[in-house]
Order: sequence, then C-alpha cells, then structure tokens
Amino acid sequence: MNGEPILAGVVGYPIGHSRSPLLHGYWLRKYGISGHYVPVSLSPDRLVEGLRALGVAGFRGVNVTIPFKELALSNAATVSETAGMLGAANTLTFESDGSYHADNTDGYGFLSNMRQTLPDWTVARGTALILGAGGAARAVVGALLSEGIAEIRLANRTRRRAEELRDHFGTRVRVIDWREISEAVCDVDTVINTTSLGMIGNAAIEISLEDAESGTVVTDLVYQPLITPLLAQAQSHGLPVVDGLGMLLHQGAPGFERWYGHWPEVDADLRRAVLGR
Ligand code: NAP
Repeated sequence: MNGEPILAGVVGYPIGHSRSPLLHGYWLRKYGISGHYVPVSLSPDRLVEGLRALGVAGFRGVNVTIPFKELALSNAATVSETAGMLGAANTLTFESDGSYHADNTDGYGFLSNMRQTLPDWTVARGTALILGAGGAARAVVGALLSEGIAEIRLANRTRRRAEELRDHFGTRVRVIDWREISEAVCDVDTVINTTSLGMIGNAAIEISLEDAESGTVVTDLVYQPLITPLLAQAQSHGLPVVDGLGMLLHQGAPGFERWYGHWPEVDADLRRAVLGR
C-alpha cells in the first residue's frame, strides 16, 4: 500500500451505458475507501495493449463487458476454473507487469440474486426453462448445473447455438424448439430469460405462461425496464418473479473485494442508488 487511491474500472466498447461505475462508486463512498472506478472505452484492436497499459499504470483490476468477455479470457495469464469452463471472463485482476488473472462472476451474481430475493428458491434436482443461448445463458447454465439441477430445457431463436451449449455442458441440457417455449413452461420450477428481448426498445418475448404451475419462479436478466413484459405477465398469473438488477449488483461484489479489500453489501439502498432514485 502506498497511500495512493486504488484504481479499477470497467472496459467495454462502447461503455457509456454501463452502470458499474455507479455501483462501485456507491460502495467506495459507503465504505470510505480512497479509490476510483472508471469507465474505459477501448476499440477491439486495442484491447490487449490497453489492458496491459492499465495494469502497468497501477489499476488493480477491471470488469470487462460486451464485446470483450471472450477475448479478455484468451489473453489472461491465469484463469479461474469458472471462467475456463464458461469460456468468458468478466472480472480481471492485474499483476504489476500488466498480466492478469481472469474470473467470471456472472453465474455467482445470478444465484446470489435469486437466493437474496427468494430465500426458499433452490434448483437442486429441479428443472428450468432457459430462453437464449448467448454469453449470459452460458453463465446461467453453468451455475444451475453446478447447483445440481436435474434438467435444463434450453430454447434459442438460432437453434444451433442452443445445441452448441448442450454439446458443451452435456445431457442434463435438453434443446427445445423456439416455437415450443409456451408448451415447455409446463412443470418447470424456474423460467429464465437470458435474451435481450423485453429490453426497452426491443420486442417482448412471445410466450404464454398460462400452463405454468403456481410456484414456478420467473426471472429476467434484462433490467431495463425492471419489470419486463415477461415479468409483468408472470405477476398477472400470480407467479413469483425476480428482476435482473440484483444479478448486476451481486456479480460486482467479488471484484470489489479483490481490488479494494472489502466485501460489499447488496441492499435496497444500493438498488436505489444504481437506479438513480
Ligand atoms: P448475447 O451473447 O449477444 O446473446 C443474445 C441472446 O439474445 C441470444 O440468445 C440471441 O439469440 C437472443 N436474441 C436477440 N435478439 C433476439 C430476437 N429478436 N428474438 C429472439 N432472440 C433474440 O448477449 P448476452 O451477453 O448473453 O446478454 C443477453 C441479455 O442479458 C442482454 O439483455 C444483457 O443486458 C443481459 N445481461 C444481464 C446481466 C445482469 O447482470 N442482469 C448480465 C449479463 C447479461 P440468437 O442466438 O438467435 O441471436
């Protein structure tokens, strides 16, 4: 420790939309830590040299977001078991020579959000329907499998991508046709949207939750709006819902602890601060 403010940040392209600076800025103020957390925009052709420069300049670490989660992993000096299994990283911690360790905390963020919102929620020996097969779906599938889920029904507009995930993760993942998602809702414990459908400016998912059982939990990784059309439909059927903001908040905690030395709390005040309320 040399008494200088601790530096960390988030790297993406573009990066202006990221809420991570609000999140980490709130925690820095709350815990009275001398530090900064800055958004850094790097074009893809400058990512490798840019990351090294941040590390050499004294940054403790960075989060990486779209479109760098895979590229950041492939240039890491060391990789956590989770990031290696998922093939993507979102949390990098630097050595002084600019090399870095890569981890992925998205699955941790997903599970922590579910448990904090619905303490009785469990997936062990259960079933889930996952909509989408992109990077976020990969993290959620990995997390559910590690929790001992019995079956994941996976549906994606582009079926091939769902099949690739099944090939990667194994037979507990069963690919469902995108046109059959309303039927696939029947007797699953949890329905999870990992597509960008339902986000402000995007169409809603065309799905009916009519056949869902009364206890089926519905969650959406999209958090703009907080109550997406999918969650609104679930509420209209009296189903328990979990919004996606908490996943963003929880996935930031391990990086904050690594870089600033304090495990941060995820609570209602933080949610309000990140929502700008
Ligand atoms: P991604 O890798 O680009 O995947 C996007 C997914 O959305 C794919 O499955 C894609 O299907 C599907 N999709 C896009 N447009 C569609 C449409 N018109 N109809 C049907 N499916 C469509 O993105 P990602 O990183 O997985 O992120 C997905 C979403 O999760 C984003 O909204 C992101 O903001 C959110 N997210 C939230 C958190 C959080 O902390 N809450 C964390 C990570 C991600 P195809 O394969 O057919 O294109």
